[in-house]
Amino acid sequence: MATINGNYDKLAAGYLFPEIAKRAKAYSMKNPGTKLLKLGIGNSTEPLAPTVVAGLKLGADKLAKAETYTGYGDEQGDARLRKAIAAQYAKLGADVADNEVFVSDGAKPDVGNIQSIFSADCVVAVQDPAYPVYVDTNVIAGRGGKFDAAGGCYDRLVYMPCTEDNGFFPEVPKQKVDLIYICSPNNPTGAVATKEQLAKFVEYARKNKAVIIFDAAYSQYISDPKLPRSIYEVPGAKECAIEINSFSKSAGFTGVRLGWTIVPMACVCENAPAGKLNGMWNRRQCTFFNGASNIVQEGGLAALSEQGQKECKETIDYYMENAKVIREGFTAIGLKVYGGINAPYLWVKTPKGIKSWEFFDILLTQAHVVTTPGAGFGPHGEGFMRVSAFGHRLDITEAVESVKKNLKV
Ligand code: PLP
Repeated sequence: MATINGNYDKLAAGYLFPEIAKRAKAYSMKNPGTKLLKLGIGNSTEPLAPTVVAGLKLGADKLAKAETYTGYGDEQGDARLRKAIAAQYAKLGADVADNEVFVSDGAKPDVGNIQSIFSADCVVAVQDPAYPVYVDTNVIAGRGGKFDAAGGCYDRLVYMPCTEDNGFFPEVPKQKVDLIYICSPNNPTGAVATKEQLAKFVEYARKNKAVIIFDAAYSQYISDPKLPRSIYEVPGAKECAIEINSFSKSAGFTGVRLGWTIVPMACVCENAPAGKLNGMWNRRQCTFFNGASNIVQEGGLAALSEQGQKECKETIDYYMENAKVIREGFTAIGLKVYGGINAPYLWVKTPKGIKSWEFFDILLTQAHVVTTPGAGFGPHGEGFMRVSAFGHRLDITEAVESVKKNLKV
């Protein structure tokens, strides 16, 4: 008799984005002909850089000839790409070896799967608000405990509040936790941790034999040279941190799919000496994953070339100019806006203490603009909206103008 993994039934409510889509669709059905303006979803919209397209074409062309055809590749990734990724860390002054790099089909699968190499009784700490994958994958794995609908929390998870008062970066937990998820630049708040802030977590993790899962999916959006793009810029981080990154937002690979995870040899935990976690992730990937697409990896290599980086940066600058348009437009009508300076997300405080979902409906009905309610990212997201800078400039400008003209609160 087969039985299901009952933890799926513990997942709180539907995923945020289907609920947004449902409300937007209901509004469109009631108001046919009204154009909805989207500032909601973190999906890339601009075309791939020419150098990256050439790389992808090269990958496809290689498959057309017997002499250059390749079938399955290394589960850990193409050796050239692993080397190129390690070289990116060297530029930041961080020492990452090729065999610490594991190429994947994106950051989301890695963020979701990494917990599987840790025991089921690990206590997990998450930033609140947070990218929902950290919580949901740990709930599915049985680490959530019971969901308290009134408080919006799972009772076995430790929530680290990110508030206006702490600049949306938390203090280290007061109690002992085992796995700590940190996302910087942060989705949804757009906040970026300083080296000093990360150093406190590194110190905590080393002291408690905890492991930090550092999600750096938006690292390329950091323009301030003082802010760390990798946790490995902090001394000692290799002993306690696993870092996950992606080509999705840095090279427009949201649909192409390519990412990577760094599991340092030095990374240890309570019962894992140096090398053990690296070996376990290797084993996990070799068992469940057959390597990223060879065509896509060729595209990834092109994206990391000097010319590729230059072209990808132009697209990042384009999105960051969108962020500026949103920030200036919203600030001009008195909204309080955070983030959007070293991150493609803006965290907008709702006026007059209006609840997130209520403000979502107000923006939808008054300005026809779709945003993302902060409450969907955790209890401390209440009272905020996430606004995304991903979009075509004309659409972004139209949405901002509509908010400026039509929002009446
Ligand atoms: N991590 C964060 C914080 C994200 O916001 C996203 C995507 O929105 C991902 C990971 C997923 O990245 P990928 O497209 O590489 O799966």
